Amino acid sequence: MAYKTTNPYTGVVEKEFPTATTAEIAADLDTAHEAFLAWSELPVEKRTAVLDKAAQILRENAHEYATILTTEMGKTITEAEGEVALSADILSYYVDHAAEFLKPRPLPTDASEGEVVLTKHPQGILFCVEPWNFPYYQLARVAAPQLSAGNVLIVKHASNVPQAAVAFEELLLKAGAPKGVYTNVFASHEASEQIISDTRVRGVALTGSEAAGAVIAGLAGKYLKKSTMELGGADAFIVLEDADLPATAKMAAIGRNWNAGQVCCSSKRFIVVDSVYDEFLDLYKKEVAKLHPGDPMDPSTTFAPMHDAASVADLHKQVEKAVAAGAKVEDLALDAPVPEQGAFFAPQLLTDIAPENPATQEEFFGPVGQLYRVKDEEEAIKVANASPFGLGGSVFTTDEERGKKVAARLDTGMVYINHPTWVKADIPFGGVKNSGYGHELIDLGFNEFLNIKVVDVTDVHSAF
Ligand code: NAP
Repeated sequence: MAYKTTNPYTGVVEKEFPTATTAEIAADLDTAHEAFLAWSELPVEKRTAVLDKAAQILRENAHEYATILTTEMGKTITEAEGEVALSADILSYYVDHAAEFLKPRPLPTDASEGEVVLTKHPQGILFCVEPWNFPYYQLARVAAPQLSAGNVLIVKHASNVPQAAVAFEELLLKAGAPKGVYTNVFASHEASEQIISDTRVRGVALTGSEAAGAVIAGLAGKYLKKSTMELGGADAFIVLEDADLPATAKMAAIGRNWNAGQVCCSSKRFIVVDSVYDEFLDLYKKEVAKLHPGDPMDPSTTFAPMHDAASVADLHKQVEKAVAAGAKVEDLALDAPVPEQGAFFAPQLLTDIAPENPATQEEFFGPVGQLYRVKDEEEAIKVANASPFGLGGSVFTTDEERGKKVAARLDTGMVYINHPTWVKADIPFGGVKNSGYGHELIDLGFNEFLNIKVVDVTDVHSAF
């Protein structure tokens, strides 16, 4: 896979980068290891000072950083600026919390003398494989916790966002990170084994598809490296009969169509109780009709192209397969036709999806919603859980206690009441089932790749 920027709106190949050689990767591993030896010994405040500076640079140059995202993967400039702000917030979160997270934890013990504590230690190099749909946010999610904890990173970003990959590496260098603390590598898929097999690499974090997760988790298993997998999703969006329907439909249109539907935790399956199904459908169409397609660099654009033409073609094929299995497809109007140029996919909605339709088992990574009619709350939960994925989900009801009870029965890592799954610096992220394992963000993500060591200084002589 060649590393290159192809603008999804203009189709122009703007920049290409050579793939790293085996020798270059070997040198990067050496540099990262040397950097780790010094970085891990620094007081945590010296490490978080780098993150603090990086957050400041991002905030001061938000439009410039955002423009790279819009150019490389097509998201609207407004969403891109939001992503830059969120990435800065994640860096700042660990500036504020890393010292506290690193503190030793005394364990309650019935020993009359001495103490047992858990101490936390960075381990070395982590290999991160990251996707293009949130090119900075995904990097911040691993870099902020792990760098503040004292680990160092070798990062393979997606091949279509090389400029964002370089911009993030340069951001940390500008902020004062020593060379080797954060290294971007334009690695081929095959190079993953060279990196993961290196004994100085102590962990592997991947965010991406199930297919990539299976390959990288397999290599992590082969070389006995701890791994976290943040994979795809098919989030349910349950609408109960007591939901505030106008507000719910608005959330549905945003939840399914922001980032051109290319979000792991998009609202992908609307599961609506029969008594409000028709009204919800009508309101959803009206909300989608407010979205405005156009040049993603234009701040008035609210519906973006997908990240490349191949994905548009793949999504059409996926819809055709669902229709061949009996689903109906409805084209949804926006406030204007999608432009002739650019990798646009005009929003669609699948209905009449039978339980055996392959669509029930797949992630639609673009602006195609699925709409299910269910009898009641009980059936809604059943349909929601009949998915191989378990990332997020949401429940819409005016009765929050009822929403929480439904949330408890959903087999996913995250559930939101009255809004779609969202992302914030101080809320952890992670799924179950085929959506992966492990967490990113807050102390959960911080601890994933630390050696949490037992230090026992209890006087046991009297016991023998
Ligand atoms: P992808 O094809 O799996 O790519 C993700 C990353 O994995 C890229 O860097 C890609 O590199 C790399 N990769 C793919 N196959 C590989 C292999 N065999 N060996 C080594 N590296 C490999 O995913 P995508 O289609 O770009 O991204 C969308 C998927 O990511 C969706 O399923 C989405 O739900 C999921 N996602 C999950 C989360 C989460 O937090 N759970 C967040 C965002 C996205 P190349 O670009 O070079 O192929």
